[in-house]
Formats: sequence, structure tokens, C-alpha cells
Amino acid sequence: MKRNVCMLAGVCLTMILLLLCASCSTASPEEMRTEAATDSTTGSVFQEAMASGLDFDRAKLIEKAIENQKSSYAPYSGYNVSAAVLTDSGEIYLGANVENASYPAGVCAEHNAIDIAVLSGERKIVAIAIVGGADYKVSDYCAPCGICRQVMREFSDPMQMRVIMAISPTDYKEMTLEELLPESFGPSHLGQ
Ligand SMILES: [Zn+2]
Repeated sequence: MKRNVCMLAGVCLTMILLLLCASCSTASPEEMRTEAATDSTTGSVFQEAMASGLDFDRAKLIEKAIENQKSSYAPYSGYNVSAAVLTDSGEIYLGANVENASYPAGVCAEHNAIDIAVLSGERKIVAIAIVGGADYKVSDYCAPCGICRQVMREFSDPMQMRVIMAISPTDYKEMTLEELLPESFGPSHLGQ
């Protein structure tokens, strides 16, 4: 019942936002971003905004990644990485690095987050926010390793996908996957 009320409220909010959009055709990209962000991570306004210009709430994605850094298991390197993945359904999935005494058995945060999204039924990644640093602090613009870039490639359009390397919700570097992994090998090479 509570869920139905929430869904109804969400539909009403979406309709109101659509009416506002229709009556304000000169809305700037910044205004559109605010409207999209108002609708949280679900709803047609949000998804239309993503489809038209990947105009999603970057601060929220980064905040989720920062909050999740505490999940990291990195007793050997002491370098704690966290990632938040946004898919085309509007959902966000979290992952953190999990190291192993047998070092190669460790798994990166980005890889974990993407696998969780895929195992939840997702197939298209829109963006990923990555944070990292020693002792559960965010101190660097943490770039994804080569293997993680290839993992991202499997479930994204490299020209569209955004990789956000963040220190805070307002301090980050953003690149497309194509910029990080040019001339990549992907599913289309195998007829997919
Ligand atoms: Zn990696």
C-alpha cells in the first residue's frame, strides 16, 4: 500500500515536471539538470534526460561512492576504493575493492560494482563514479585499471559512458570511456 502511494506520488511528480517543461521550452541545461535530479533515480523525466544528454545527478552518484568506501577490504595495500554504477534503468549499484592474501585473487571496486549490476539484471551502464585513497579517505582522482576499463566496455557505449574520478561531489574529473579506452574491443567484434 505504502509502495503504491509512493508510486502514485512519483507519477504525479513526473507529470508536474513534464507540464513545467512544456511551459518552459527555454529551460537551460542547468535547469533541466535540476529538474531531472528532483525526480531521484527513477521516472521518465530522469530517463529522458539521461538519454538525451547524459544529464544525471553526478553529485549524488559521487556521494554514494564516498559513503560506500567503508565497505572496502584492503588490508594489504591499505588503499580503499569504492565505485557507484548508474545503469540505464536509473538504478545505482555499489562496489568496493576486495583484496586477497593471494594478491591476484583480489577484485577491483569497479569490477565488483559492475558485476553486481549485471547479476541484478542490468545490461547497460550509463556512468560510474570512482573514489579512492589510503585509510578510508578519499585523496586521489582514482582512475580505473585497464581490466576495469575493459569490463566497462562490455556493458556500455564507450562514446556515451561517463567515468567520473572524484574527490568530492564538486571536485571531480569526468571522461568518456572512449577517452580512457580508445579503439577498444567489444561485443560487436563478436557479432553481438
Ligand atoms: Zn580495476
